[in-house]
Amino acid sequence: MEKKEFKSESKRLMDLMINSIYTNKEIFLRELISNASDAIDKVYYKTLTDKDKEFNKEDYYIRIHPDKDNRTLTIEDTGIGMTELELDDNLGTIAKSGSCDFKSEQEMEEDFDIIGQFGVGFYSAFMVADKVIVETKSIDEEQSYIWTSEGADGYTIEPGTRKTHGSKITLFLKENSEDNNYDDYLEPYRIQHLVEHYSNFISYPIKMVTEKSRVTEATKDSENPEYETYLSDDVLNSMIPIWRKNKNELTDDDYNNFYHDKRLGFDAPLAHVHLSVEGMMSYKAILYIPGQAPFDYYTRDYEKGLELYSNGVLIMEKCSELLPDYFSFVKGVVDSEDISLNISREMLQQDKQLRLISRKIDSRISEELKKMLENDRETYEKFFKAFGNQIKVGTYDKWGQDKDKLQDFLLFHSSKEGKLVTLKEYVSRMPEDQKYIYYATGSSLGQIEKLPQVSIIKDKNYEILYLTETIDEFVTQTLRQYEEKEFRSVSSQDLGLEAPKENDDDQSDEVSEIDQKLLEKMKEIIGDDVVKVKTTAHLKDDVAYLSTEGDLSIEMEMTLNTMPQG
Ligand code: ADP
Ligand code: MG
Repeated sequence: MEKKEFKSESKRLMDLMINSIYTNKEIFLRELISNASDAIDKVYYKTLTDKDKEFNKEDYYIRIHPDKDNRTLTIEDTGIGMTELELDDNLGTIAKSGSCDFKSEQEMEEDFDIIGQFGVGFYSAFMVADKVIVETKSIDEEQSYIWTSEGADGYTIEPGTRKTHGSKITLFLKENSEDNNYDDYLEPYRIQHLVEHYSNFISYPIKMVTEKSRVTEATKDSENPEYETYLSDDVLNSMIPIWRKNKNELTDDDYNNFYHDKRLGFDAPLAHVHLSVEGMMSYKAILYIPGQAPFDYYTRDYEKGLELYSNGVLIMEKCSELLPDYFSFVKGVVDSEDISLNISREMLQQDKQLRLISRKIDSRISEELKKMLENDRETYEKFFKAFGNQIKVGTYDKWGQDKDKLQDFLLFHSSKEGKLVTLKEYVSRMPEDQKYIYYATGSSLGQIEKLPQVSIIKDKNYEILYLTETIDEFVTQTLRQYEEKEFRSVSSQDLGLEAPKENDDDQSDEVSEIDQKLLEKMKEIIGDDVVKVKTTAHLKDDVAYLSTEGDLSIEMEMTLNTMPQG
């Protein structure tokens, strides 16, 4: 029998698979199941266009069979199968899309992370097997064929005896080594786990016969029951993912259960968004706004991202490209038929597609938060308590490029009503003569309330934002203004206030000589802690206050002073 050689790039990829140091070898199963599912899809599409053929769902399934005695694992499907020519074309060459013109093997090694995320397709079988046999019969041919390969040196094709259309892939597992226990892939629980993890939402049943144990019929009511083993044919995957269902069929409970089942979080989510987009890029997504920040949320350990599926197959657990940083708290899943599982399709293309989805997610989450802010203030405040700091960081992060979009999501403590207010609310009730948006900073609301300047501004019946977090002032510094009203710290020298009326008579800009001496003496006593001591016409109950020369608050100046100098 003639042994054929792999096309050169395929050979290179194959070499890499065979000698792979790649730890995530388990994805081979996901790849083979996804091929099986594709093959069944193809039969399904065929029956749609061919009136003579019928598609009986029961006839279509994927079967996994571990054989410990022979150390083989088979994955069989009732899909479209391959003709001799197709076998040669599809398994002899890595994807024809020209894909694997990887520049060098080294680059390829570096790209292994990508391979893990997007898959390498059929050849991944050689990460765990040193010999692979594919017996397949095409739906269009009577004759079946057997493709055999022991790795990079080539493959053979010979006629087989299979009578029904479909394919059976048999993997002869590699010998165990110190680092790899390939026998593991013969354990039913391990297979079950891998299917649930990577292939749970494949839309055809993935079956496996396993040995189970049960109480015998004869002893079922006895006090000393006897057990027997029996063979049970089980479906391992749950098949229909909730995101493919119609929104109208689903209740809030369904969404919450999914959130918990998927371990997206342990809290009760505040809101969910179910997206079903058809078009240039078709995809479905379910997104959640959690009710609580994960314990590591505000640390470097936290990784943002959504689960990414390619037509029901998990390809990435945390796809960070799908979320902007300021919405890093969003949890959920995205499934698209248009995102290829195979790395052989252009990665760049992939990026473009992800960006498209990410933009949509961004705008839908924004809409959802806006809706919440307008219609359900209590829930929104809960949200803001958990994730408000992330929104604040978002306004000044990246040179404030997203500030216009995020500023309306901000809430601040305020001197009015003791409630959290938005900037819009603040500005909408500003008296006509009020020039600035005033803010006061301090470590607590109580401390801020006591500031002499706060009572001065309150006296004018102006509202003040109370900023208690260090990052708050980065926000006001970045925004600078809101609806053309500038932010102004109450500790600023120029508060933009008219001098109080009752002092008008004896008030002149000139400070008397005696006063001048007094001020100089004070400065002498206080020393370098202050730059200057001045009089003011605004104080009422207090004798003095501290103010700054620039428009930063004292707290901000202190923060900046403690930061490492660049
Ligand atoms: P991809 O699935 O991205 O096309 P693969 O390397 O996984 O790349 O598979 C290569 C090709 O081999 C598939 O496109 C398909 O034509 C064929 N193939 C693989 N497995 C099967 C199968 N179980 N049944 C039918 N065809 C298959
Ligand atoms: Mg594939």
